[in-house]
Amino acid sequence: MKKMPPPLPPDAKCTRCRSQATIRLPNHHMNFCPDCFTHFFQTAVHRAMKKYGISRATPLLVAVSGGKDSLALWNVLNQLGHVTRGLHISLGIDDFSEASTAAVDRFAQERSLPWTQYSLKEIFGYDLMEIKRRSRRRICSLCGLLKRQMLNRLTIKEGFQVLVTGHNLDDEAGRLLGNLVYHRSEHLRKQSPFLPTPHGKMPIRFKPLYRLDAQEVRNYCSLQGIHSLEAACPLSRGATSHIFQEALNLLEREMPGTKRQLLYGYLERHPASPSTIPFVPCTICGEPTYEDTCSVCNLRRHLEKNSAKE
Ligand code: AMP
Ligand code: ZN
Repeated sequence: MKKMPPPLPPDAKCTRCRSQATIRLPNHHMNFCPDCFTHFFQTAVHRAMKKYGISRATPLLVAVSGGKDSLALWNVLNQLGHVTRGLHISLGIDDFSEASTAAVDRFAQERSLPWTQYSLKEIFGYDLMEIKRRSRRRICSLCGLLKRQMLNRLTIKEGFQVLVTGHNLDDEAGRLLGNLVYHRSEHLRKQSPFLPTPHGKMPIRFKPLYRLDAQEVRNYCSLQGIHSLEAACPLSRGATSHIFQEALNLLEREMPGTKRQLLYGYLERHPASPSTIPFVPCTICGEPTYEDTCSVCNLRRHLEKNSAKE
């Protein structure tokens, strides 16, 4: 059974300003009033930007899914005075994708923020439901591959050099645990909130929310009136990434601070190391790749072959 922290007593004081506290952060041993919590959230993002040398002069392309993390990220970057543009890929997962796009649209309209929408079908040739029908490979890893590659390519196409995504502390710590359990050394090499650009046609990738956990993001969204899509992706049930995050939540409940200890300790000891393999242009699409053909073209060929069998 889940052990929930006890509610804050009515006389609990905000750690920062001593007024009535309403938000408990057990992992930091702090309680906050709404204004001071917002300050705490903004400071965590500001520190991350400073640590990795991203100034307000750098325009940021924000990958927005419609979920809580990426909308919170877009919101806080604007509060901190960064120049941003949203980028949303409609994946074609039936009602789920329609609701995701609607959440991005509503958020951007309410705040008059610019964004661009692409559909996976239009940029890749197949949407996610078609991919699922045509391939036996794990759909979450295919989706992850396509999002990663397409977000990189579209960032450059939109004229930006820095791509930011909404991955939070839970995502990053969970991913690290999974990579350690399976000894995925290639993935571990890239386990960093900041990846410099390895090639002129690829953007810098940065995750400014890596110091904030999922509950902190939820609190921030509710204080800021952000209406994100609550539903989880219907194709991702039972994904191993969720199980690793759950395992860390169990450890965190018994030993507050475990998630941060795991991630920050690892990052301090293992700075990301760039690959030494040279890039070559994909013989089909010309995008940089390590092989003759890139992973996107390989996947497209695999799906075409499977359609020929039908
Ligand atoms: P996920 O892979 O769903 O955990 O999402 C991680 C991050 O990738 C999100 O916080 C977004 O920044 C970005 N992202 C996920 N899905 C999309 C999408 N459909 N369009 C644009 N960005 C996305
Ligand atoms: Zn290619």
